[in-house]
Amino acid sequence: MRKLPIYFLLDTSESMVGEPVQAIEQGLRTMINMLRKDPYALETAYLSVITFGTTAKQITPLTELCQFQSPKLVLGSGTALGAALELLDRRIGVEVTKSSPQTKGDYKPIVFLMTDGEPTDQWENQAAKLSKNRSLQIIAIGCGLDANLDTLRKITDLVITGAEMNQDTLTKFFKWVSASVATASQSVDKTGDAKINLEKFPQDDNIKVADETTPQHKIEPNRFVFLHHKCVKTKKFYIQKYTKNGKKRTGFLGFGQKEIYQAAGAFPLDDFEEPESKNNISIAANLLTEPDACPYCGNKNWAMCSCGKTHCSPDSTDTKGKITLTCPWCNQTNIYEMANFNVGGGGG
Ligand SMILES: [Zn+2]
Ligand SMILES: [Zn+2]
Repeated sequence: MRKLPIYFLLDTSESMVGEPVQAIEQGLRTMINMLRKDPYALETAYLSVITFGTTAKQITPLTELCQFQSPKLVLGSGTALGAALELLDRRIGVEVTKSSPQTKGDYKPIVFLMTDGEPTDQWENQAAKLSKNRSLQIIAIGCGLDANLDTLRKITDLVITGAEMNQDTLTKFFKWVSASVATASQSVDKTGDAKINLEKFPQDDNIKVADETTPQHKIEPNRFVFLHHKCVKTKKFYIQKYTKNGKKRTGFLGFGQKEIYQAAGAFPLDDFEEPESKNNISIAANLLTEPDACPYCGNKNWAMCSCGKTHCSPDSTDTKGKITLTCPWCNQTNIYEMANFNVGGGGG
């Protein structure tokens, strides 16, 4: 039986934290349930999931639909798109049977690429190589305001853009994917190849097919900052998201105007892929305003240990503003006091 290979390349940078990553996980589950009701898809569709954040990983090798388990996505810092494209190319070489003069190989692989930001590695060479490859079909989905359409258009001319990646949009998107895959798996017998057609894509104000004239949103550098905290009480990990709020404050010693960030949610995570090198943004702590409470213990503040890591903290209790705490990262007990300092964070 010829396989119809379907690869999902999913951005797992920390900016997907919260609703976007949950919506993608839910969308995949819905899609699998829909596809399993389709006898043609059951016979031909094989699915694989490759994620890219700190690094690129194939978390599910190409697996037949009835065996496929919807994966739990682990976030990390960075957007290793180049590594993901390289891995995709390599895995297709291993997992997909090519046609030869004697035998018909598998159908042309279909790739759904979802990303919400700028790649943080070298991706241009891989993109050029894949865009010329006629033996696979890539559909790229740029999620949110920071997705770079020009990057995606260098990989494929099938680009979808979504202003907001909420549950609604992603449910709609994955329903369309299942319908397309079901149609593709039926049409393969006639045409010899499975094709995804964007003509029937359900566009609305939020999600649209982008052609070469669709303008790129203005990409705001460092729109977000993500602090990687642990809870002092439970030692569990969470991400504090901050977003620019359009206001400014005079910088250190009165120099310059610095943009202020507003807290935009604290997200508990069981698992996170810490980058090997240090975080990619360094920002003055006093520009990060009104942190959310720790999602585990409710502590309203946060602090940085001398090891350079950050954790939740109660507001200081004594009159001098000092407090004694044990860092959940390095287990040192320190006396903390109020100060302004630079803190490292991820940029998503
Ligand atoms: Zn806590
Ligand atoms: Zn520490």
